[in-house]
Amino acid sequence: MLTVLEAIKLSTEYLEKKGIESARTNAELLLAHILNCSRLDLYLKFDQPLKQNETDQYREYIARRGKYEPLQYITGTVDFFGLRLNVDSSVLIPRPETELLVEIIIEQYKEIPNTKILDIGTGSGNIAIALAKYLENSSVVSIDVNDSALDTAKQNAGLNDVHNVEFIQKDILNNVDFRGIVFDLIVSNPPYVSSEEYEQLQKEITEYEPRNAVTDSEDGLKFYKKISGFASKNLTSGGKLFFEIGIGQSQAVADILRENGFTEIQIQKDYQLIDRIIYGIKQ
Ligand code: GLN
Repeated sequence: MLTVLEAIKLSTEYLEKKGIESARTNAELLLAHILNCSRLDLYLKFDQPLKQNETDQYREYIARRGKYEPLQYITGTVDFFGLRLNVDSSVLIPRPETELLVEIIIEQYKEIPNTKILDIGTGSGNIAIALAKYLENSSVVSIDVNDSALDTAKQNAGLNDVHNVEFIQKDILNNVDFRGIVFDLIVSNPPYVSSEEYEQLQKEITEYEPRNAVTDSEDGLKFYKKISGFASKNLTSGGKLFFEIGIGQSQAVADILRENGFTEIQIQKDYQLIDRIIYGIKQ
């Protein structure tokens, strides 16, 4: 029988050989998931022998991770802005940078009641659900092209006891019409990787995450153009449009916002000092 520590060491070596980054952390998090404890709690259990079913399960998880399946799809969960969300291969895994987008919006809207929000390309529902939870009086509409993503997002709203979000299947590239409803705030973390850059991404992304959530299969700017045009017609005057952006896109997206009549454009850097969030006001 392997002990917790022996199992972690063997798995770390295996994952390192496969070229997995942060192999030890991955090995620990997968075992913590199986033992239903936190990663730190593992340190108190180093000498505990694993049961046969735990070893079998661990072996399966480590084999999957060794084939580059992302940790979050194996455990099926991710923590985002203090919320626990379910994820599966129909949705992009929420990234920590996106928490910054949510934080900036909450900071600006926390004193404003009844904000009507639209989240475009909701995926797991992370942005919509976090905004709905922390801006209690807001009402959020979330759209996504993919029905299975919407199922996951709805489940996540339920798990977090959030009821002020409505999920609707719509393709933003395809003439979305809200029949006269105007929003106070539109937000999106669209697929912004160009087809060229996509080829260079890690296997974890290209082999497992939904391609159409990551790349626009063009120059990376297609959704910014489409959504800015849409937002210029579907925001109230004084309403704001917020985007997450990729490395090197801030000036191009600022131009797109200006061309669509947005002013007072602001750009914020993430913790790695990369321009990551951009927003502007509709006049
Ligand atoms: N809104 C989700 C996120 O921010 C999904 C984004 C996407 O699929 N491009 O993670």
